[in-house]
Amino acid sequence: MDAIQITLPDGASREMPRGTTAAQVAAQISPRLAKEALVARVDGGLIDLSQPLDRDVKLSILTAKDPEAVQVFRHSAAHLLAAAVLELYPNVKLGIGPPIENGFFYEFVREAPFTPEDLEKIEAKMHELASRDIPNERKLIPKAEALELYRKSNQEFKCELVEEKAEEPMVSFYTTGKFVDFCRGPHIPSTGRIKAFKLMNVAGAYWKGDEKNQQMQRIYGACFVEQKQLDEYLRRLEEAKRRDHRRVGKELELFAVSDLVGAGLPLWLPKGATVRRQLEEYILEREREAGYQHVYTPDLAKVDLYKRSGHWEHYHEDMFPPMELEHEELVLRPMNCPHHILIYKSKRHSYRELPVRLAELGTMYRYERSGVLSGLSRVRCMTLNDAHIFCTPDQIKEEFSGVMRLVERAYRDLGITQYSYRLSLRDPANTEKYVAGDEMWALAERVLREALDSLGLPYKEAPGEAAFYGPKLDIQLSDVMGHEETYSTIQIDFHLPNQFDLSYIGADGREHRPVMIHRGVISTMERMTSYLIELYGGAFPTWLAPVQAVILPITERQNEYAATVRQEVFSAGIRVELDDRNEKLQAKIRDAQLQKIPYMLVVGGKEAEAGTVSVRHRSRGDLGPKPMAQFLADLRQEVDSRALDTPASAAK
Ligand SMILES: [Zn+2]
Ligand SMILES: [Zn+2]
Repeated sequence: MDAIQITLPDGASREMPRGTTAAQVAAQISPRLAKEALVARVDGGLIDLSQPLDRDVKLSILTAKDPEAVQVFRHSAAHLLAAAVLELYPNVKLGIGPPIENGFFYEFVREAPFTPEDLEKIEAKMHELASRDIPNERKLIPKAEALELYRKSNQEFKCELVEEKAEEPMVSFYTTGKFVDFCRGPHIPSTGRIKAFKLMNVAGAYWKGDEKNQQMQRIYGACFVEQKQLDEYLRRLEEAKRRDHRRVGKELELFAVSDLVGAGLPLWLPKGATVRRQLEEYILEREREAGYQHVYTPDLAKVDLYKRSGHWEHYHEDMFPPMELEHEELVLRPMNCPHHILIYKSKRHSYRELPVRLAELGTMYRYERSGVLSGLSRVRCMTLNDAHIFCTPDQIKEEFSGVMRLVERAYRDLGITQYSYRLSLRDPANTEKYVAGDEMWALAERVLREALDSLGLPYKEAPGEAAFYGPKLDIQLSDVMGHEETYSTIQIDFHLPNQFDLSYIGADGREHRPVMIHRGVISTMERMTSYLIELYGGAFPTWLAPVQAVILPITERQNEYAATVRQEVFSAGIRVELDDRNEKLQAKIRDAQLQKIPYMLVVGGKEAEAGTVSVRHRSRGDLGPKPMAQFLADLRQEVDSRALDTPASAAK
């Protein structure tokens, strides 16, 4: 027999007839694997289970446990969507249809917009096609024939793709019943297993992402192999929507955007400004404790400054264009480092003064494309909790540890628990992308590792993720949907001290070059506020809450007593409001709950007589009457200790 050797991941080798398929191998291994198999991997690449094997190979059968196989599954779901749309609307033109995170999309050109009712119909049609378990079949056809096929059916975008991407002479196509798609594949064997999906929305998109091209409609779908995964995803999505900082920010009057001011330039409303002020005061206090000196520097500078720093060369596409003024070119700063460097340089430093730690809530401007701007999380004007530490190489480790302690402390106080550390290192295979000598890099990488190890912090290493001027530690926070983004960062920099010829006088009386550490502890005020809004769904811990207590007189007769209570609470340094509207108590309580105010102080005739307040907490409910002095002492203690009142802990 004409046999080939098939080596499985466990190392076992099987002799099979040439032309055996991965599906047949799976069936030999176990009926269960045959049932669960989605796609196969041979020698590193993915292939259809039905593709005959014609040589000795290393073969793995992939199931839903493998993320790559799940993406193949989603890609097949995208084809199913296109097949359903073509059945219902035969004249649509097709763009591309790839898998994406949590699902898939397909692009169509159709004159009428797809409505929510259309999506329902399409979804039903997809279920119908899926239940017929139609095979996904791969075909190779000559390129000329492929073009002819698409020309005849007026699929001009597909023609374009075949022209550009297809390699002569044969082109790979997949069919799902009547639907034919130019596609590299692979796909799952048939439509039958595609059950757990939901069409989510339609969004406009330009062909190939280029604004000059035809506008298309993208239908997005969520898709998982198992129904319970889809259910869980949709539940988290609902939760994320409920906590979306843009929505909560509006409901709680935290910030607003105005067309007249411009996109990405949010306005902080009084309540949002109060939260921000708390954050700012909090971090300034931590920094003072840690030996930082605070400075103020202007939001703009001459272009020359950024030419010197190298930002102009490496970064000017992310900057606002310069403005000309009395023969000078000025630009809004995209970062604060050069200003701080010039403060360091404004006097001579001896090694005894190092480290010099300069900090500022520095406002900066970055050109973000209008398409990515969002609420407070992606903006064009932002204020960073920034600092630059100038130190000797020997001091890097201690300074780095100091920043780490600051980060850990801040996260603890803010109630942030979902985060991880990423040590971003130089790509050892590609060192010419980076500045400075091997010795400095080796030193910096070593001290970063040592510092992390001595703090006992788990981290993952990411070679190739370093800044061009030095290695860095990124601290990534995850949101409700599990997406990670860098909020805090500590970067070691050998480059800027050279660019600006920085020095200090060493113990030997000679000039030496300091090392610079860039660090941001709680990110920009905009992003951290957006994160905290979503973390708490607007119910900030009392110390951060814009209004910490509201006084609710039961009738107008208690307004006078309520006013004295308000004054007393205010004098204790608590942010307090008085709700003396002529409304029923129930309505006042409901409004205070909606505003997520931690404490409601109900005052009626009894309280006025006894000099007490009846305390109600937004999540713990009725706490009964308390003498004013005791209530205020408890509240002060809660605020001063920055106690966290997460919905979870309150529910216990
Ligand atoms: Zn495809
Ligand atoms: Zn910097």
